[in-house]
Amino acid sequence: MRRPIIAGNWKMNMLISTAAEWVEEILGKSPLSDSVDIIVAPPFTALAVVRERIEGSRILLAGQNMGPEAEGARTGEVSAAMLKDAGCNYVILGHSERRQFFAETDELINRKIKIACDQGLNIIFCLGESLDDRDNDRTHDVVESQLAGGLADLDTGQLDRLAIAYEPVWAIGTGLNASPEQAQDVHRFIRAWLEKIFGSERSAGIRILYGGSVKPETSAPLMAEQDIDGLLVGGASLKSDYFYDIINFSQ
Ligand code: PEP
Repeated sequence: MRRPIIAGNWKMNMLISTAAEWVEEILGKSPLSDSVDIIVAPPFTALAVVRERIEGSRILLAGQNMGPEAEGARTGEVSAAMLKDAGCNYVILGHSERRQFFAETDELINRKIKIACDQGLNIIFCLGESLDDRDNDRTHDVVESQLAGGLADLDTGQLDRLAIAYEPVWAIGTGLNASPEQAQDVHRFIRAWLEKIFGSERSAGIRILYGGSVKPETSAPLMAEQDIDGLLVGGASLKSDYFYDIINFSQ
């Protein structure tokens, strides 16, 4: 049985003050469901305040990105060890906005995944097809090539740290979410690929999240699908009451 993950990705939103308010609001509601893992990924500048405010709660902290080297002369980068030091258990890697706006390749993402694992971080590895890919029936091919590139040469210890987020690019921030059937089709495909490459025992334990315009009212039907083990939520995670509802509707 895979324990669901509900993760919020704040992207380049929230100041220190608004991040602190968000935590206060969500922890001020009745208890958060204890049948899901809850993760929040603030911008780097708000990690410290969120860490301080979530202490003693069930919310875990994630970085939204990190550099592909362990340390050194890389002005502007944040390392895996720095994320750990800031209290992160997870890091989001391969997000489509990193691929699109920062030209991140599968090879670069693969390097980051290995470094993050070696430093003891868990990974949410994002992938998904563009609208053009979907319209031209290339969804499975694109997803397969992102899986093969991003997960090349991972050992079993590294696989234990892995969760995957299927995020169709056309659904991110657009208000168009994939239907539960469309998402399940790709999740099943991902699970079958993992099984083929890493064996059924390993693949059965890897959680596959869906992301793309998730809202409180769309979360339960998505979570009802067999291979959907959680949700990665962007815009709707910025509102503490929406995120709370998504957590509690997703059991
Ligand atoms: C995301 O950024 O991972 C995401 C899914 O965003 P949104 O929910 O806003 O589509």
